[in-house]
Amino acid sequence: MAYDVTIIGAGHNGLVTAAYLAKSGLKTLVLERREVVGGGAELDHVTGPFSQQIATDLNLKIEFITPKVRVLALSDDGRSICIYNNDVESTVKEIEKISAKDAKIYPEFVESFSRIGRVLAPLLSMTPPSIDQPAKSDVWQLGKVGLAFRKLGKKDEYRLLRWGPMAVADLVNEWFETELLRATVASRGIHGAFAGPWSAGTSLGLLWQAALDGSAIGPSTSVKGGMGALAKALADAATSAGAEIRTAAEVVRIEDGKVILRNGEAIEARAVVSNADPHTTFLKLVDPVELDPNFLSKMRNYRAQGTVAKINLTLSGLPEFRGVDDPAKLSGRIHIGPEIDYLERAFDASKYGEFSREPYLDIAMRAPNVMSIHVQFAPYKLREGDWDTRGEEFANVVIDRLSVYAPNLRDLIVAAQVITPRDLEETYGLSGGHIHHGEQSLDQFFTFRPLIGWAQYRTPLKRLYLCGAGTHPGGGITGLPGANAAREIARDFKAGKV
Ligand SMILES: Cc1cc2nc3c(=O)[nH]c(=O)nc-3n(C[C@H](O)[C@H](O)[C@H](O)COP(=O)(O)OP(=O)(O)OC[C@H]3O[C@@H](n4cnc5c(N)ncnc54)[C@H](O)[C@@H]3O)c2cc1C
Repeated sequence: MAYDVTIIGAGHNGLVTAAYLAKSGLKTLVLERREVVGGGAELDHVTGPFSQQIATDLNLKIEFITPKVRVLALSDDGRSICIYNNDVESTVKEIEKISAKDAKIYPEFVESFSRIGRVLAPLLSMTPPSIDQPAKSDVWQLGKVGLAFRKLGKKDEYRLLRWGPMAVADLVNEWFETELLRATVASRGIHGAFAGPWSAGTSLGLLWQAALDGSAIGPSTSVKGGMGALAKALADAATSAGAEIRTAAEVVRIEDGKVILRNGEAIEARAVVSNADPHTTFLKLVDPVELDPNFLSKMRNYRAQGTVAKINLTLSGLPEFRGVDDPAKLSGRIHIGPEIDYLERAFDASKYGEFSREPYLDIAMRAPNVMSIHVQFAPYKLREGDWDTRGEEFANVVIDRLSVYAPNLRDLIVAAQVITPRDLEETYGLSGGHIHHGEQSLDQFFTFRPLIGWAQYRTPLKRLYLCGAGTHPGGGITGLPGANAAREIARDFKAGKV
């Protein structure tokens, strides 16, 4: 057999898996349907952040940039709050402009999430334990997390237990009185999700973000040279370890260790690893007769209906945002979604198959003068018309909304690129247009991701594994699903199971 492993997809997780497996001595081939590598990462304006451990292990030639500002939150009345990275004092001064009470409690909010994040962090790089047959190592790992939990102290212990299932709106209402601050913090819980701030379980997003980088608030770390530089560094790491990468090589069928490409070519390996999302993998690439009907039915019910669209505006200059006194405050993300109810109403529209007239926008200014806009809510399925005919109308809604905050924006637009949920599916291979390969809700999380019983990167097909964002610990540019999957696959090879 020419290869030990074929990996379907050169998204950042597929490349991480390839690099680790090739380093461990396995002959690895990556097959990517697009002409370029990196997958969805090219649409992103920040990293998850990417795991420092993986960057070190793979000796990545890359520089991460964490700007002073984490997020600048704008309000319709021209007020704003700037939240800084690792600078509580400056953030408190900003919040004081609006609420002395919120400014006073903010340091405790930061410290509590940071302590809780440290307890949860080891879960990110572990394989979720099997519910039916937990291994000794699972019990040991979870025991260590349990011990750290006991050291948190009663107050944080109770908080952690209570927060997970809560609606994020309730959580932020308990901490803060200012709507702008509440909505900015809460937005992490609904980012990329088919959920509004009043949906149960949305606090989970804040806990997960704290596990990733110690803060509950969405990150602003990017990559020097853009996400393309990260994809290139990962591809270089994989190829210099001996992996082969083929682009324009779409897999159309997986058959017991064999993959069939669109051109009819068949490639056999001891194992196949799919970086494609779970719906693509099991509902499009595997013949349904190969799967147990129970598994198939659960997979069909795996929730992966996208709600995000992306707009990139090329501008002739930096827009002037009302009430923003210092352009340096635009160095992180810009949040538009000033109230909890605003965010909930934005979600309401998508529930009924319509895009929001007043959407939640998460923006980053990227050189040279590109405004990268993540738009929620834009449902994959529209009740009236379709994305081919309504793209321009949608872009105008977003630009009109933005103009409330940056009145000179329209005059600066040189070009606009609109990427709808349909484009996410057709061009980027994201089934249902879901940016995280499936909802990251309590029922599709950790030991349940993608499905209960199948959270260890293995699948009901003995020679097929998963390594993408549809596995633990989920979406975002972290590299963690890819690294965790590689560990399990290498273990099976070592044990002679494949
Ligand atoms: C619009 C948008 C904005 C986002 N913003 C951010 C952000 O700012 N920060 C952040 O951290 N995350 C963001 N995300 C999420 C992030 O991009 C994903 O979580 C991440 O890309 C998942 O990586 P992955 O490697 O698991 O999968 P993907 O990046 O989806 O890669 C899967 C790869 O498999 C390939 N593939 C699929 N099917 C086949 C096939 N049949 N044959 C061969 N190849 C195939 C695809 O072409 C793709 O290259 C965003 C996502 C989107 C869509």
